[in-house]
Amino acid sequence: MRRPVVAGNWKMNGTQAEAAALVGGIEQGLAGVRHAELLVCPPFVLIPVVAEWLGGSRIAWGGQNLSAHKSGAYTGEVSGAMLRDFGCSHVIVGHSERRALYGEGDEVVAEKFRAAQNVGLVPILCVGETLAEREAGETEAVIARQLDAVVHLAGVAAMDSAIIAYEPVWAIGTGKTATPAQAQAVHAFIRQRLAQLSATVAERLRILYGGSVKAANAQELFGQPDIDGGLIGGASLDAGEFLAICRAAG
Ligand code: PEP
Repeated sequence: MRRPVVAGNWKMNGTQAEAAALVGGIEQGLAGVRHAELLVCPPFVLIPVVAEWLGGSRIAWGGQNLSAHKSGAYTGEVSGAMLRDFGCSHVIVGHSERRALYGEGDEVVAEKFRAAQNVGLVPILCVGETLAEREAGETEAVIARQLDAVVHLAGVAAMDSAIIAYEPVWAIGTGKTATPAQAQAVHAFIRQRLAQLSATVAERLRILYGGSVKAANAQELFGQPDIDGGLIGGASLDAGEFLAICRAAG
């Protein structure tokens, strides 16, 4: 039985006061969330505020990105070790906004995945196709390419201490959610592809769905056999909505 995970990606949103109010609100409603693993990923500068509020709580926190490098002359970058220093346990890698807006290709994403694991962070590896790729019938080929780049560099065993998030690009922040059947089909494809290398790793791996998840559609998505929770963007900025999604995960 895989323990569900719900992760909030705040993207570039929030002030210190808003971050404190948001995590305070989430903490207050936690009683209704049974056993799902929960985490929030604030912008870098808000991590200390979140860490102060969440220290000792059951909610973990993580980064939205990290440098592939350990340290040095990389102006504007933040390393995995720095995230660890601020209590992060997880980090998102390969989010579609990083891939599309900052030119992060599969090799860079794989390097970041490895850099995260090198310092003990759990990478949440995002994969997903664009609308044009889906319409061209390339969904599986794109996901396979994105996955294979990481497995090639880090090895399939590395997936044992990672999480994958399937995020169709056309569903992120658009209000268009993949149907439960569409999402399940891709999740099953990811698991089967990894099972060719290790059945055990594939069976244990948590695969989250992300893309316009809200309280109203979470239950049906999370009810699919290969969907083990969600990576939540917009809806994670509202404590009540995020908590309702967490409750739907179990
Ligand atoms: C995301 O940013 O990873 C995401 C899934 O966003 P949204 O839930 O807003 O579509």
